[in-house]
Amino acid sequence: AAKAGGRSNFCHFDPEMEQRLQSRRRLETDLRQAVETGAFEMRYQPVVDVTRNRVTGFEALLRWRHPERGLLPPSEFLQVAEEIGAIVPIGMWVLQHACHDAALWPDGVKVAVNISPRQFRGQDLREVVAGALWAAGLPPQRLELEITETALLADSDATFDLLHRLRASGVGIAMDDFGTGYSSLSHVRRFPFDRIKLDRSFVASMDSDAGSLAVIRAVAGLGANLGMAITAEGVETEGQVERLRAEGYHELQGYYFGRPSPAEAVPGIILRPQGARAAA
Ligand code: C2E
Ligand code: MG
Ligand code: MG
Ligand code: MG
Repeated sequence: AAKAGGRSNFCHFDPEMEQRLQSRRRLETDLRQAVETGAFEMRYQPVVDVTRNRVTGFEALLRWRHPERGLLPPSEFLQVAEEIGAIVPIGMWVLQHACHDAALWPDGVKVAVNISPRQFRGQDLREVVAGALWAAGLPPQRLELEITETALLADSDATFDLLHRLRASGVGIAMDDFGTGYSSLSHVRRFPFDRIKLDRSFVASMDSDAGSLAVIRAVAGLGANLGMAITAEGVETEGQVERLRAEGYHELQGYYFGRPSPAEAVPGIILRPQGARAAA
């Protein structure tokens, strides 16, 4: 509060802050409306097994069709959606939509869905997952849930218990962005993940940074010793493909193999000869 008649800094009008507050409020309003009207879309990015030149699955990636700003990536709205809780209905829609789309794909092709920390609280994630699988007629073995370390920090015991139950139902559990958090290693010891996804920052710097290469090797060893599949993310060049293969990475994901694409493009991506690209 301002002191009697004084020109306290608290009272000064800060147009920049006001601007930021306004656009934040606008984003919240737009997001809530987008949930009502269903203004979200999915994109699917292939994961390729480079030893067999085959697409093994797709990661489902969320987009928001904003009325004025066009198609927005998660970096533009995910954090706010988390904060206001909109991610819970959005996340449910993502699961339903991804399972529905994946049910049309060939039998061996999986779908990976990102799960937000907030989705672990509130309503029972098991019921949402089971409901989405059932409605789509998708076997649980074809769904993989990707979680980040932030989700595991919130309420460890309850979260790990939920993960165990989900896994027991046949759904795969992957640890996303591995190596970027503070305690990636301790989580891997605590839970038998089906897959580790090496964060793309390590791939991006593997040529220039000896530390990144060391992490890449350590994660490959971890996967082999703990029986967890490993995927490298953010693969953009043929050079990265060759080096990752040499380090024991067989499942790769990144712009080199394909951008996130609409569901209609998936059949064509599956049929496209991956070997031709990788060998080109
Ligand atoms: P993520 O789960 O690590 O997904 C991979 C991100 O890397 C995607 O960004 C993808 O487009 C991008 N990417 C793929 N290949 C390359 C590459 O070669 N180079 C570069 N530079 N980037 C590449 P996107 O789609 O913008 O998503 C960002 C993050 O938002 C995701 O990171 C994930 O954490 C989150 N996210 C996406 N969709 C959902 C969703 O449906 N639910 C939730 N809760 N989170 C989501
Ligand atoms: Mg992911
Ligand atoms: Mg990732
Ligand atoms: Mg990420």
